[in-house]
Amino acid sequence: MLSADIAENWRNLMQQVAAATLCSGRPAKAIKIIGVSKFQSAEAIAAAIRAGLRDIGENRVQEAAAKRPEVDALLADFGIDSSLVRWHFVGRLQSNKAAKAAALFDVIQSVDSLDLANRLDRACQTLNKQLAILIEVNTSGEATKGGVSPEMTLALRRQITQFRHLNFRGLMSIGPLTDDETCIRQAFDVLRNLRAEIERILPAPDGRLELSMGMSGDFPIAIECGATMVRIGTALFGARNYN
Ligand SMILES: *Cc1c(COP(=O)(O)O)cnc(C)c1O
Repeated sequence: MLSADIAENWRNLMQQVAAATLCSGRPAKAIKIIGVSKFQSAEAIAAAIRAGLRDIGENRVQEAAAKRPEVDALLADFGIDSSLVRWHFVGRLQSNKAAKAAALFDVIQSVDSLDLANRLDRACQTLNKQLAILIEVNTSGEATKGGVSPEMTLALRRQITQFRHLNFRGLMSIGPLTDDETCIRQAFDVLRNLRAEIERILPAPDGRLELSMGMSGDFPIAIECGATMVRIGTALFGARNYN
């Protein structure tokens, strides 16, 4: 997709997000847009950053490891400071890739087991790094999805308090694959209620916990339901080219 088209998509997206936040009685800046750039080129990512995007989401460690230096080089050409850009891991993280992911990403949104948290923490100890993490919750019950069950989320949150190098920042979920708005809302409400429960029992020192929910097809609903991060792929970058 052309840079001009990506810039136009970005402006449209900002407007849609602003409209949805207005409906939910929050300022537009309460929502962070994560541009999910899997299968997109470094050029497309750099174009989105030029247009204003500051948070990138990727779901495969190898792909991100190859693209991040390329994106940084393009940003340098544009005179943009690449340290302003945060990279979020949003995919399923295999345990043997945990150390590499800990080194490469600023935020891991898909922590769903104690073992994975433990591996990330140990890697961060070696790196002397503090890593922001979200717990991924499977709110739809779909067996193909990653994420801890809603029932086990508080327990995992408690267990994670032992890890000195992990900063717990909130919850992430992928909405159910359906057009049924009621069903989508229910899943988002599950995530918001879990956040309320966690904030009550283990108050967060650095303000409210994040709710990462909503993608191209359902982000306005997610914002109405309280999302603070929306993860947008196709609505920003166009269709994915899987080759
Ligand atoms: C691909 C992906 C997205 C973005 O999906 P779109 O429907 O293209 O907006 C969001 N979250 C996760 C975890 C993804 O893998």
